Amino acid sequence: MTLGTSSAPRPLAARRCGFVPPYLLRRLGWEQTLSLDAGFRAARPGPASAPPPLAARATAAWTVHDAGATTTLPGRPVRRAGEGATGDPAVDEAATGIAASLALFADVYDRDSYDDAGAPVSLTVHYGRDYANAFWDGTQLVFGDGDGEVFGRFTAAVDVLAHELAHAVTERSAGLVYQGQSGALNESVSDVFAACLAQRLLGQSPQEADWLIGADIFLPGVAARGLRDMRAPGTAYDDPRLGTDPQPGHLDDYVETSEDNGGVHLNSGIPNRAFQLAAVAVGGSSAEGAGAIWYAALTGGRVGPRTDFAGFAAATVAAAGVHADAVGAAWEEVGVTPRAGGSRAGEDGAVGRGAD
Ligand SMILES: [Zn+2]
Repeated sequence: MTLGTSSAPRPLAARRCGFVPPYLLRRLGWEQTLSLDAGFRAARPGPASAPPPLAARATAAWTVHDAGATTTLPGRPVRRAGEGATGDPAVDEAATGIAASLALFADVYDRDSYDDAGAPVSLTVHYGRDYANAFWDGTQLVFGDGDGEVFGRFTAAVDVLAHELAHAVTERSAGLVYQGQSGALNESVSDVFAACLAQRLLGQSPQEADWLIGADIFLPGVAARGLRDMRAPGTAYDDPRLGTDPQPGHLDDYVETSEDNGGVHLNSGIPNRAFQLAAVAVGGSSAEGAGAIWYAALTGGRVGPRTDFAGFAAATVAAAGVHADAVGAAWEEVGVTPRAGGSRAGEDGAVGRGAD
């Protein structure tokens, strides 16, 4: 398979990988956010070519833009790396979050920006009006201000920043197709590095961490601990407006659906829980322990665009060294038996052949 080069496929480029899944937006009756998401493919094609090569640097440059409540991207540049606070909370939260996210990948995984070649990162805040989501569009990170009733600013949660940047990392490494099991892995990998960053900033061990994703995007009065719970998928929220968290935490409960790209935000609960179990078993910090194993699997060439749960599990076991048994046991706990070469192209309904 061809990985990590300019000729690698970029399946995410044509997809909007929203932080909040479409089934939740539909339940909330947010047709505007949904229609913006649905119209995305036609409105904004992915990059035609790789960004120009830049000199490698310790921490990549970034620019936060302000869309001014429009949907025009990227908007007006308002803060660059090295510049001081602007006083606009969304701008300054995005700045803090992207700096911390880039530092995680640079310091812990020796990765220079999302492409490992120092690509500058573009971010936009104040996207749309009452837009309750965040996404990586193949070229940049985008954050809404929330609807003001259920969701607040999406920049308020530093793990959302890391989640979206990790989508860019996945796109430029394994290239996991955003559909079915490979799509759920794509989502899960973003949650994995989001949790690693949150725990790193708080100085928490895997045992101490709450393992919630998006805990800070909900406004007071919403019965939600977070958008997802990696330790106990399916328990993050139970609210009259949101319904009950539908994530499964075991392969027996895998959700077959045509919605949400084959349930990528649902079935990510299964590999999420495997990571949480592995992080506790491996020990140390999540970022430097199990996180380093997951990163090695993602970027090591064993995981490709159509890799399924079993294949990804095998890649993590192969990357785990002395922790191979512990990592394998974590996957078995969620019903996934690591199986090298476990690419099941087409089984998830996606068209095309397997990883190449
Ligand atoms: Zn995502």
